[in-house]
Amino acid sequence: VYKIRKGSFGFEDFHAVSDASFTVNRGETLALVGESGSGKSTIAKMVLQLEKPSSGEIRIDGQNVAGISGRRLFDLRRTLQPVFQDPYGSLDPLHNIGNTIMEPLKIHGVGDAESRRARMLELLDQVALPRELATRYPNELSGGQRQRVAVARGLALKPDVLVLDEAVSALDVLVQAQILDLLAELQQELGLTYLFITHDLAVVRLIADRVCVMQQGRIVEQATTEEVFENPQQEYTKNLLAAIP
Ligand code: ATP
Ligand code: MG
Repeated sequence: VYKIRKGSFGFEDFHAVSDASFTVNRGETLALVGESGSGKSTIAKMVLQLEKPSSGEIRIDGQNVAGISGRRLFDLRRTLQPVFQDPYGSLDPLHNIGNTIMEPLKIHGVGDAESRRARMLELLDQVALPRELATRYPNELSGGQRQRVAVARGLALKPDVLVLDEAVSALDVLVQAQILDLLAELQQELGLTYLFITHDLAVVRLIADRVCVMQQGRIVEQATTEEVFENPQQEYTKNLLAAIP
């Protein structure tokens, strides 16, 4: 169970996230939605411990991990992996696909070269990409294929939690649906927990168990996906829903 209590994160002049509290239960998909600038990626960074919250707690299975560093942080990172949107530059254009997927294994010193390679091929199978792609470069792949590579890399260390920040947002609807299906299958198979960040409520409906709606750095509504769609409590959520094409 992943829990944030009153997590705040401020930059010099203002608070990007204020008093955000939420819990992600094991095996579920929690969606964070909200307009551009509402603080979603800042929460992702707090969860991934790329930014330290200026106040509040982050608990994993009851243990406060908000201020940890060194070896503990390094070990924690293995269990929590990011899958960012492709245009974030999350794939290095100079690394071939095989090396990209093996990178986290290298960083964490997992196995020898041969076992890392075997794991990489297994990961390509898992995300339904042909093994031949291992020697190709990101620019030789379609957007959907690149996103599968990002998922494969996210899975390399066998994490418990994937933090997916706009992981399907750059794709057309059909390819989006394929990636969402893949994520759902992997979740079933591997018992993964997803923190799924998106500005797209249509996607939320397809994948999320529960939803946190963010507005200007605050979580303004938090409920099951069904409740949010059938019976939104906040005016802001109603407006967001009305904007779905
Ligand atoms: P988007 O949907 O566009 O990705 P978001 O909800 O992910 O938006 P954040 O990236 O979390 O939004 O940004 C929240 C606020 O924090 C924004 O107003 C942004 O300009 C600000 N912000 C983000 N990073 C920094 C930074 N390094 N320094 C100062 N302000 C920042
Ligand atoms: Mg963002």
